[in-house]
Amino acid sequence: MNKHIMTVAAVFLVLSIGGAAEAYSAHWCFQWQGAYIDSSTNQDYLNAPAGTTNYIDAKYSFAKVEIRTGLLTWQTLWNTWLDTSGCTGLVSVLPNKTYRFTQTLVVKRGDRIIEVHEDGVDWTGVADTEQISITTPSYLIPQFSYDAPIPPDSVNNRLMPALTQIIVNASTLDLPDGVDIDVSTWGSFDIPGDPVGLGCGSWCSGMGGSLYYACISNDWSNYKYNIAHEIGHAISKENDGPRWGDYWGSDGFYQATGVGNRCDCTFISGYSHCPTSREFTGSGQKEGFSHFIAAASYNTRTHVNGYFVFYKNLMQWLGTHGGVLPNGGGAGTIACPYEVELSDSDDVKWLQYECSPAANFQPHMSNEWDWVSFFWNLYADGGTNKYSVDEINTVWDGIPSDQRSYDCCAATDTDPGTGEYWVATNCVHLTVGSTCSPSYPHAFMIGKLWSADVTNHGVTMGLSERVDDLYNDTGEPLYNPAKFQHFVDTGVDAMVIY
Ligand SMILES: [Zn+2]
Repeated sequence: MNKHIMTVAAVFLVLSIGGAAEAYSAHWCFQWQGAYIDSSTNQDYLNAPAGTTNYIDAKYSFAKVEIRTGLLTWQTLWNTWLDTSGCTGLVSVLPNKTYRFTQTLVVKRGDRIIEVHEDGVDWTGVADTEQISITTPSYLIPQFSYDAPIPPDSVNNRLMPALTQIIVNASTLDLPDGVDIDVSTWGSFDIPGDPVGLGCGSWCSGMGGSLYYACISNDWSNYKYNIAHEIGHAISKENDGPRWGDYWGSDGFYQATGVGNRCDCTFISGYSHCPTSREFTGSGQKEGFSHFIAAASYNTRTHVNGYFVFYKNLMQWLGTHGGVLPNGGGAGTIACPYEVELSDSDDVKWLQYECSPAANFQPHMSNEWDWVSFFWNLYADGGTNKYSVDEINTVWDGIPSDQRSYDCCAATDTDPGTGEYWVATNCVHLTVGSTCSPSYPHAFMIGKLWSADVTNHGVTMGLSERVDDLYNDTGEPLYNPAKFQHFVDTGVDAMVIY
């Protein structure tokens, strides 16, 4: 229904001969420039923002339509939310009149609001707006709707196609009512706290209550996964889902060793939050979950259609990874953006192939790539036993804080033996530089023992027990052993913990 304004202008001019100089009752329809094409490598890039065909309806956003009534006076015809096609209700459209259109960079469904603020300002105040005018021709042909002019390409406008897709999928993504997310864009090195050299990354800022602040680097505002990742942090925090953890895993005392150190992040000095870095489990979970939310925002829910584009450089790899990683064996890094297929990530198993336990102890580390694979396959694989985002959040939400913490280790554990689920009896929170005691370099994976023996880890304990309680206990309302098994098997495939 909607067309580019140039097309509409052409319609006005060419076909106006047969029209009439009278008013029509019609809709004004709005669009955002650019659309994300979901079909090729680095598919998340905003496609041809200056082109003539890539526009999306400004659905769920806010617009104002005014008609000029004098030299400096305007009459408001519409000043509220657009419908699911990005259109106003019926308004009078007159020939040979000047109309002024104001689009607000906001999307809203129910009480969920995501709004973009002016470039370089903080997250407070009113949302950014774009204003543009046209004059209708002397004669109009009757139309059900007319296309409003499209705002010019800008950093902030580019966020809107991505945010629109997120708000369309708000229920699927478990974005709760009452959430207000304010987005601001910044120059790459203007981001407070952004380490120089972070590259393709964005940055997420302070939050309070149901209000969230997200910060997107100007240079990477074209990348929809980057944007949705930050929204993912708001989703997990609001639902008390996977959201805990610091990034100590690769740094200093906890630094990984061996195997060429392919699970570190040393190309970003002193910074461990990378796709291939080794992190404390909570960090791997929360970042992997946000990657997963981005994948779920833009891909259909099928096992083979899961894609994610890393927006930070990756370490190259040495292991075979089941043959799924094509560029392995080299030194140094692979530049971002780098697209990964999450269905293949069953064989990525970064921790298993590339990492060895840290010199100082700490067997229970994790990695973002492994975790996004885990979440995606939990969500999209498994037939009728797949887990919705809400169900994933519910698993985490039900885990007591002393059993989910990123830095929790069990001072005492009950080892049930080979192939049995581990039950810890105590948990000690770590501080930087401290160690678990007793600590052994045992390996295990989520929900199921990897090796015959295990020792300290709170997250694994909490997860396995929680999923067992939910789905594997006879008589429980959600009793479904096959669903429980899907969780366990997905953990086995991804090997999210080493
Ligand atoms: Zn993040």
